[in-house]
Amino acid sequence: MTKRVLFLISDTGGGHRAGAMAIGAALDEIDKGTRLEWRIDDIAAHCTFPLSKLGPAYSAALRFAPPIYGALYHATNGRRRYRTIVRFCEPLYRERLKDVFTQYNPDVIVSVHPLLNHAALRARADAGMDHVPIVTVITDLGRVHEGWLLPEADLTIVPAREVYNRAIERGVPPSRLRLIGHPIHPKFEDVSATKSEIRSKLGLPQDATIALLMAGGEGGGKLLPTTLALAKTHLPFHLVIVTGRNAALKAKLEELAPTLPTPMTVLGFRNDVPELMRAADLLVTKAGPGTLAEASVAEVPVVVYDYVPGQERGNLDWVRTTGIGVVALTTAEVVQSVKRIVENSERLATMRAQLTGIAPRGSSRRIAELIVQVAQDGRKPTPRVPVSAAV
Ligand code: UDP
Repeated sequence: MTKRVLFLISDTGGGHRAGAMAIGAALDEIDKGTRLEWRIDDIAAHCTFPLSKLGPAYSAALRFAPPIYGALYHATNGRRRYRTIVRFCEPLYRERLKDVFTQYNPDVIVSVHPLLNHAALRARADAGMDHVPIVTVITDLGRVHEGWLLPEADLTIVPAREVYNRAIERGVPPSRLRLIGHPIHPKFEDVSATKSEIRSKLGLPQDATIALLMAGGEGGGKLLPTTLALAKTHLPFHLVIVTGRNAALKAKLEELAPTLPTPMTVLGFRNDVPELMRAADLLVTKAGPGTLAEASVAEVPVVVYDYVPGQERGNLDWVRTTGIGVVALTTAEVVQSVKRIVENSERLATMRAQLTGIAPRGSSRRIAELIVQVAQDGRKPTPRVPVSAAV
């Protein structure tokens, strides 16, 4: 009998979709005599205004007004405050979610977004689907937003110890909590080509030190000034800049590249990030949890130059405590940190060794196994908190 897995996401940044795609790819590998179907639904995009504009609004806020986004994040990050927001927003998503559930008829609902957990709980009740388990897969690595934590979830999967502790503190029962790791696409572990083969395939120099610059799926923030500062250092390296969905930034960098002293390759949104990371010696990135976790599997040390206020602050602590890289939040610090690493191969090797220890290998495959298990078992009869007390 076919089991259906419904992933709930919103395209705010690239990480939520990437997480769902990663687990989906791992589900496709599973063969246990169970036919599996999965679907990803960008819930916000189909809701009533203003939720329908959540993705573009997030993108604009990060490009033009990160402090405003940070203020909003903090303003909504409290148990009571979040409860109020959920009540206020309910009419905007409730019907849509209920329709999605009824039409797809999932065997398990998997939320990979902080704003969809409590929404899923209510819509499940509306749809009369109380027998369908809800799984929350948390993708942030540090102190997570209130919205992520749903004690009523049938399973909560977390990527880091700090998130595990916070979930316990917020009432998630240990029996329904698993510390597995960030859901990284299996393709990051399946790269078999050598660094040299990948460089050759991508037209990148064989002998140069390569620094890969990224800024998540949106490619905004301080990527431009950081690139320009590094390009003017006269360090002996080659820059590869991934501008993601930011077409304007790509055009601008392509125009500037011939005038800068450092050779660079400017790329748009790429589907071969696993290869790009393997080809690089160093990753200079904002603190996106997906990118950081992927870097650990690709064993490329990181310099973090920026973070989304509020939301990615905890990821900075994760970088510091795991030792997988350095945090350098001003342009001068970035230049200095990159210089130190590029000029000291021993330091680079030590950082690489740290990465091996913390990389969440097999995370998506393990998460997929758990999801299949939950879909097969259905909801376990556990004492529940009433829906009214859910947020
Ligand atoms: N990504 C990608 N192609 C690109 C740029 C980014 O596939 O050109 C992926 C990246 O590998 C990661 C995700 O987009 O999986 C970004 O997630 P992250 O959590 O780092 O940041 P967000 O975009 O959510 O802020």
